[in-house]
Amino acid sequence: MNQLFLGITELYTPFKKIEKPAIAVRNGRVAWVGAAENLPAEYSSWDKVDLGNHSVVPGLVDAHTHLIYAGNRYDEYLRRARGESYEAILESGGGIYSTVRATQAASEDELFDIAKVRALKFMAAGVSAIEIKSGYGLESLHELKMLRVIRRMQQELPLRIHPTLLAHVIPTGWNHKKYLEMFTDELIPEVKHRGLAEAVDVFCDQGAFTLAEARKILQAALAQGLKIKVHAEQIARTGAAKLAAELGALSADHLEQSTPEDWQALAASGTVGTILPGAAVILRKPFPNTRAMWDMGVKIAIASDHNPGSSPLYDLWLAMRLAISLGRLSVEEALIAATANAADALGQSDIGRLEPGAHADFLVVDTPQALLPLYQWGNTPLCSVYVGGQAVWPQ
Ligand SMILES: [Zn+2]
Repeated sequence: MNQLFLGITELYTPFKKIEKPAIAVRNGRVAWVGAAENLPAEYSSWDKVDLGNHSVVPGLVDAHTHLIYAGNRYDEYLRRARGESYEAILESGGGIYSTVRATQAASEDELFDIAKVRALKFMAAGVSAIEIKSGYGLESLHELKMLRVIRRMQQELPLRIHPTLLAHVIPTGWNHKKYLEMFTDELIPEVKHRGLAEAVDVFCDQGAFTLAEARKILQAALAQGLKIKVHAEQIARTGAAKLAAELGALSADHLEQSTPEDWQALAASGTVGTILPGAAVILRKPFPNTRAMWDMGVKIAIASDHNPGSSPLYDLWLAMRLAISLGRLSVEEALIAATANAADALGQSDIGRLEPGAHADFLVVDTPQALLPLYQWGNTPLCSVYVGGQAVWPQ
């Protein structure tokens, strides 16, 4: 199917801005994009779609979410507001463990229904591709259950979904060594065999996995041909960002406690540094020094880190606004970080950008200036969301 999108005031690829552009789309992928006045004759007869004099940006890519879970942690939010720390709540068996209990108790169908609603909220807010992690199952049986829910979401929802197996914390009652062996020798091979995840992630931090344990998990994933990612330098500085760089991880995520030494390693390896403004602000951690990282050559992505504890955030635009205000990125850089760079954090080079060969995933923004929503806090007017050249929202 050949389509020609016109009636656009301006478009970000996201690397450059094009005034009065046209987008030619063949079978869901961009064939040509440029100023409409330069449209090659071969595309001029394609089926025209008039976008009504609105602006266009690539569909947002949310490269770090924990979207599947039962229950909520509203009580914990109140406790933290009264001064208790995230770390103390986790150590006392709350935090992640309370979500684990609720998620283990939920059926596969229940989890699907809850997560589907959340994913559609993200899509309506302009996210056309989303990463979803397991990690609230802990026991093999429940981790596989979560990953099957993600697979069903891939099959039934119109946005692109990228599944990750997450080594989150050691379940209560397990010996560390035994759990690690189960994870590396049984769970990772099983997940690979069933094709249930593209990547393996590990929460390497105080109260979770040590650096040595993280290395074992990541090496087991690499040995199975899976991509790797790391939750790094959030609560304490552990060396996880440098480990991610050393092992060629797709991304090192969080980085609240990271240092220039870590940024150098990430820049040299090409490992994406994913910042999670929701978690930094909600847990009142130091905001990652995004400006300095970007200037040092780290490829920066911005993600929501949607999860019931540290980031109950449904809005990637808000994460971008925080990265501009507290991380000192420009609006153009924030868009790149939430589209093309986020796609790179998933190892996907054909989403998050509007260029020949890429999937035609884009947002029609209801303002003549495409980046105005990054200035208007709390107001993100979207006309429609396209995935593969098809309008998926509004339905
Ligand atoms: Zn996370």
